[in-house]
Amino acid sequence: MALIVQKFGGSSVANAERVMNVARIITDTYKEGNNVVVVVSAQGDTTDDLIEKANEINPKASKREMDMLLTAGEQISISLLAMAIESLGYPVISLLGWQAGFETNSAYGSARISTVKTERLQKELDQRKIVIVAGFQGLNKYEDLTTLGRGGSDTSAVAIAAALHADRCQIFTDVTGVFTADPRKVENTQKLNDITYDEMLEFATLGAQVLNNRSVEMAKKYNVELEVLSSMVREPGTIVREVAKMEKMLIRGVTKDTDIARISVVGIKDIPGNAFKMFSKLAAKGINIDVILQSVGRDGTKDISFTCASSHADEAVEILNDIYSMEGGVVTSDTTVAKVSIVGAGMQSHSGTASKMFGALYEAGINISMISTSEITISVLIDKELADKAVSAVHKAFFG
Ligand code: ASP
Ligand code: MG
Repeated sequence: MALIVQKFGGSSVANAERVMNVARIITDTYKEGNNVVVVVSAQGDTTDDLIEKANEINPKASKREMDMLLTAGEQISISLLAMAIESLGYPVISLLGWQAGFETNSAYGSARISTVKTERLQKELDQRKIVIVAGFQGLNKYEDLTTLGRGGSDTSAVAIAAALHADRCQIFTDVTGVFTADPRKVENTQKLNDITYDEMLEFATLGAQVLNNRSVEMAKKYNVELEVLSSMVREPGTIVREVAKMEKMLIRGVTKDTDIARISVVGIKDIPGNAFKMFSKLAAKGINIDVILQSVGRDGTKDISFTCASSHADEAVEILNDIYSMEGGVVTSDTTVAKVSIVGAGMQSHSGTASKMFGALYEAGINISMISTSEITISVLIDKELADKAVSAVHKAFFG
C-alpha cells in the first residue's frame, strides 16, 4: 500500500463541479489501494477577496488578525471537499493545519513550518480514512493561527509528504506540467517529463508560476519527489527530482520576470567598501538583489546598477538616497525592464549557449542592458514591452 499526498490549488476547487471532480480523483487513488492525504487551498479567489474585505475595514490590520481571517478560506474548502467525498461513499475527515500537527514559528503572514507532528494524521490513516488538510496554515507557540505566505499550500503538501515519508507528492494545478515556456504565449512549447529541483527553483523564482519556491526548496532538502499535473486533464505531469534519467536536453526552458526594477546609483565615490556598504544596508532590510552591474571608475567616481523585485524598488531608493545623496550620488529606479532567462543544468558543460541566446535577441532587434549567469541560468535585462517577443525568439532558437 502506497501513501500518496495530493495537493489541489484554488482553481481546482473553485466551484461545486470542480470540487466533485477533485473528489473523484482522490477516491480513484484511494480505490487503487493507496492511503491518501490531501492538501487543499482556498477556493478560487477567496484569499484575495478576504484581503479586500480586510482592506475595506482596516488597511493596516495587524498580521495576526489577517492570519485569523485568511485561514478561514482553507477551512471552507477542506470541509466542502470532505462532504463531496462523503457523498461518494468513502471514509474521510477534514483537518485544520493545527489538527494535522503543523507547528510554525511566530512570523504571522509568512510563518515557517517548524514541525509536523504526525500522530493525528497517522491515526486517521490507520483507520483507512482519506485525510483532507487545510494548506497554508499552522499554529505558533502562542497557539495562534499563522499562515505560510501566499501560495503556501504547496509547502504544506511537501511538508506532509516529508513528515510521513510519502511515496509520492502530486501537485495538481491548472496546467498539465512544466513547459519549456508559457504555452499560452509561446508556440511549439514542450512539456518536460522531468526536471531537477534546482531547475524548478529557477523557474519558480524567475516568475513561472507553477510551484511555490519554498515548496521546491523543501522538497529538495527532504528529497520528496514531486509531480506537477493537471486536475482537469488526466495525463502524466512533470516529475521534479534529483537527476535520474534526464532527457538529453541542454536547456529546459525560457522564462521571464516582469515584476522587477532596475535601481541605478550614479556618481558615487570610487573607493573600497562602497558595494559592501550598499548591499549590506539593503540586505538588512530584507531586499534581495539580483543582477548587479558596476561601471569602470572614472574621475574618482563610479556607477552601480542592480535589479530587485519591483515591490522593493521604492524602499531601495530611499535607503540608497540616505547613503549617497550627501556625496552627490544620484539614485534612480526604472520599472520598465524585464528579465528573460534560459534555464538548464545541461548548459554547464556546453559552450555556445550564451551566444545562441544573444544571437536570437539580436535577430529580433532586442537590446540587452544587463547580463548575468549562474551554473544553470543565463539572464538578460531588456525592455519590459519586448519580454514576450524575447521569450518567443529565444525559445525558437533552442526548441525550434
Ligand atoms: N490560499 C492561499 C493563497 O491564495 C494559499 C495557496 O493558495 O496556496 O495564497
Ligand atoms: Mg489561493
